Amino acid sequence: MLHDTGQFLALVNPAMAILLSLCFLLAWNHERTRHYLLELGACYLLYAVAITLQIIWQPRNDGGNATVTGALYLGSAVLMLRGMLARIGARVDTCALVSLPLALFAALAWFDFMQPQLVARICILNIGIALILLLGIAPLARLRTGSTADQVLFWVFLLFALHFLPRTVLTIAPVIGQDAAALTRSAYWLWLQVTMALLLLTLALALLAATTLDVIDGLRHERDTDPLTQLHTRRSLEALAAREIPPPQGKPLSVLLCDLDFFKFINDNYGHSAGDAVLAQIGRIIAAGIRRRDIAARLGGEEFVVLLPDTPPDAALHLAERLRQTLESTEMDVLPGMHTVTASFGVATLRPGEDLEALLMRADNVLYAAKNKGRNCVEWEREAGLPVLA
Ligand code: GH3
Ligand code: MG
Ligand code: MG
Repeated sequence: MLHDTGQFLALVNPAMAILLSLCFLLAWNHERTRHYLLELGACYLLYAVAITLQIIWQPRNDGGNATVTGALYLGSAVLMLRGMLARIGARVDTCALVSLPLALFAALAWFDFMQPQLVARICILNIGIALILLLGIAPLARLRTGSTADQVLFWVFLLFALHFLPRTVLTIAPVIGQDAAALTRSAYWLWLQVTMALLLLTLALALLAATTLDVIDGLRHERDTDPLTQLHTRRSLEALAAREIPPPQGKPLSVLLCDLDFFKFINDNYGHSAGDAVLAQIGRIIAAGIRRRDIAARLGGEEFVVLLPDTPPDAALHLAERLRQTLESTEMDVLPGMHTVTASFGVATLRPGEDLEALLMRADNVLYAAKNKGRNCVEWEREAGLPVLA
């Protein structure tokens, strides 16, 4: 039974929570692999049911109401925490996550049935929810170094968790000497509901924004990453090279091009999937052998390129030689009887005014020379007067 306009207005709060819950559930329906969206949808739904029960279940101060709505609020807080953590693949101690809400629930039931006390229940519920949410603060702290959406999400979540502490005092203040029914009819109670609604809305918007960015980042990663080797694609290389070329005044930039030797033989004799496994392993070897700043890409087929910012020709040559030796001495498990795969390398250094395409073309010419020289070697533009390898 709704008693007055205040209570009717208070229903805006659960209505909003149901809409937000639907947003999360629809997002989950579209992105089934993101299970945390389901948990967040359930979190907002439980909250909506709890607040609705609290408004329409009168009188409020007979046993049962506080226990049932309290259980729903606690469940909602647990789901919120789990959703936040699952999004970034973090966890908290399961024992704490189970025992804390159970202990809070038992205390709520005690002060509802055995020794009815509104003030005690308000303290247990508000401080309890803050404690549940704060369980995740340490693992969630990594959001502070993430995207802007992640940072906003972290601070909104922290604010939301901490606000339950002053909220305890603010809720208790007007109810000393009153009954629960009087509390729900007061404008003050409505104000408490509105602040809660605004915080939950902000949190949901931050979560949905962060999810949207997650999806966009995922698609961008798929577009820019070669699925077989996990190196950059040619498109991604071109985009990243545009940031490095032209290099800062006086800084050299080199490139090494690498083509596997007799790869057709591997495919023909061991099968295409063995060839794929070799390409994947070589991708890992190249990625492990270069600096963080270097950009390694698979140009297609069995041809790789590494763009080396701030690298003079002799350093590029040494890197190419090191990679060549690593390949030559790495056992390929998928090729029984033919344990290693070799590659030929061409190294070139950017000339003033040159673009990526022209640089790659010169590197391709020296790579061709390396193939002609008998393969499994590193070649460079000798007319450029580069050092001889040790
Ligand atoms: P060379 O030493 O002259 O480079 O000889 P090669 O056999 O490596 O060169 P060639 O260009 O004749 O053959 C390249 C082979 O690479 C042919 C093609 O079947 C194979 N290849 C290209 N892309 C892939 C791929 O994605 N997976 C696999 N398994 N093989 C590929
Ligand atoms: Mg080849
Ligand atoms: Mg080739």
